[in-house]
Amino acid sequence: MRGYLVAGNWKMNGSNAANAELMDGIIAGMPQSDSVELLVCPPFPYLAAMAAKLSGTGIALGAQNVSQHQAGAYTGETAPSMLGEVGCKYVIVGHSERRAIMGESSETVAVKFQAAQDAGLIPLLCVGESQQQRETNQTEAVIDEQLNAVVDGSGIEAFRRAVIAYEPVWAIGTGLTATPQQAQDVHRHIREVLAARHQDVAATVKILYGGSVKGDNAAGLFGKPDIDGGLIGGASLNSADFLAIAEAAAALN
Ligand code: PEP
Repeated sequence: MRGYLVAGNWKMNGSNAANAELMDGIIAGMPQSDSVELLVCPPFPYLAAMAAKLSGTGIALGAQNVSQHQAGAYTGETAPSMLGEVGCKYVIVGHSERRAIMGESSETVAVKFQAAQDAGLIPLLCVGESQQQRETNQTEAVIDEQLNAVVDGSGIEAFRRAVIAYEPVWAIGTGLTATPQQAQDVHRHIREVLAARHQDVAATVKILYGGSVKGDNAAGLFGKPDIDGGLIGGASLNSADFLAIAEAAAALN
């Protein structure tokens, strides 16, 4: 039983006041379910305050990015150990916005994944194809390249302490969502790629779907056999919207 993970990626949104209101709402309404873990990933400046707020709630804290270096002269970067020290359990690596806007290659993402694990963090590895790549039947090749860069770098056993998020770029922040079957097909493919290296690791790793997940489409997606929750952008900024997604996961158990 893999259970569900419902993760909120706040991106570059928030303020002290907005974060407090959002978290108060989530904490007050969170489903009491042993099989659903909630995770929030605020911007860096708010991590420490959110760690204090989440203490004792069971909601996990994560960061949206991490340096591939552990310390040193890297102005503006944040080391994995620092994230652990302020209370992060997870860190997102390879989000498509970082790949596209910041130019992060699959090799860089693989090094960040390893650096995060070296510091005891659980990397949440994002993979996904663009619209043009889907339309030209490159979806699986793109996923394979992004995934295998990490498997080759860290080894298959590393996925015992990692989460994967399949996020079709064309569905992120667009209101377009992959159909449950489109998502399931890619999730199954990801599991097959991993199973070729290690059956048990493939069967136990959580694979989240991300891309315009909302309260009204979450149940259809999470009901598919290889989808273990969601990485949520826009809908994670409103407590009622985020809780509706968490409730959809809780109701499936
Ligand atoms: C994301 O940015 O990871 C994401 C899935 O965003 P949204 O839910 O807004 O599409």
